[in-house]
Amino acid sequence: MRRRKTSGVIRARRVSQVAWLMLVAVIGVQFALWALPQTAGRTPDAARPPGVEGFLPISALMSLRLWLAGEGVHPVHPAGLAILVGVLAMSAVVAKSFCSHICPVGTASEALGRLGGRLLGRTWAPPRWLDVPLRSLKYILLALFLWVTWVALDLPGVRAFLDSPYNRVADTKMLLFFARPSRVTVAVLGVLAVGSVFVRDLWCRYLCPYGALLGMIGRLAPFKVTRDPATCTDCGKCTKVCPARLRVHAMTRVASVECTSCQDCVAACPVKGCLAVRPPRVEPGRWRLRPALAVALAVVVYLGIVAAFRLSGHWCSGVSDAEYARRLPEIESPLYTHVGGMAATEAGPSQASLAASHDVK
Ligand code: SF4
Ligand code: SF4
Ligand code: SF4
Repeated sequence: MRRRKTSGVIRARRVSQVAWLMLVAVIGVQFALWALPQTAGRTPDAARPPGVEGFLPISALMSLRLWLAGEGVHPVHPAGLAILVGVLAMSAVVAKSFCSHICPVGTASEALGRLGGRLLGRTWAPPRWLDVPLRSLKYILLALFLWVTWVALDLPGVRAFLDSPYNRVADTKMLLFFARPSRVTVAVLGVLAVGSVFVRDLWCRYLCPYGALLGMIGRLAPFKVTRDPATCTDCGKCTKVCPARLRVHAMTRVASVECTSCQDCVAACPVKGCLAVRPPRVEPGRWRLRPALAVALAVVVYLGIVAAFRLSGHWCSGVSDAEYARRLPEIESPLYTHVGGMAATEAGPSQASLAASHDVK
């Protein structure tokens, strides 16, 4: 009985993770087939997949700011905003669930950590005196991101960034960053990948500003892992398997910013219904969300938000194929560096010519 429940929740989460990983791989290949020929001045055979905008968090954060200010969805990279809102919403309903159910980086990081566990017997957990200051790094990076997107620029500045030449081709810039990596990029990615074999969730636990934001939002989530002290036997199995190194057996409700609602603890608990995802103020013995349903709830919230954006016409970018075909062959020019892009926007003439060529699909 316990074995069936355990394999069920783990399988449901793995299915979600693998499905999103495959989707991201397909999007990545299709985007490369669309963008790379154009950087060489050739016409692509593939169409541009809007989902690639999920990898433009700064642009999406700026779009979110305009959207929340009542200015509607900005036409450049609207899918990025849709994905960001979906990610925030699912993490605000089932605490930080994007990290354990959808994020491809989280999936890769988890796989590397498991590999380390198999190869080495166990991964290294830095002692508390080192772990706590290292964990603060992601909040410093998050503060920097939020300062750039929400404080340093006023609303006209945000609009200017979103309209800038740099932002309009930011997806291709990002592709080239990985497709033609510098030595520094290769070294940093290599250190993170190898390091994740030795230290579980090296990037996610210590450095990812996105995860820091989702953890803070997850604190507000109504659905969290909850322990029933009345039936708990204090066996400690939940704490032993927790990848976030939380003392689950000593908590009634897991409200930590590090909890990703992965439910590994739920799967490990030998007492049926003792540990489960529950809404607040529900007597533990009375109601629980079945583990696989908690996975489904998180994914459905995300899909629902993205579908709402798509159905309301906010998915395909307002930058036309003709504009991309004109810009991408010259993407290495200073106009498309971050500073250059912003300077061109502020200079006036460039912005005017941009507006003239801004033929929306
Ligand atoms: S911490 Fe960042 S990289 Fe890791 S799973 Fe969460 S969002 Fe993805
Ligand atoms: S407390 Fe449970 S759900 Fe949260 S990270 Fe740990 S094992 Fe996963
Ligand atoms: S695994 Fe279940 S029974 Fe054991 S300590 Fe954790 S909550 Fe209690």
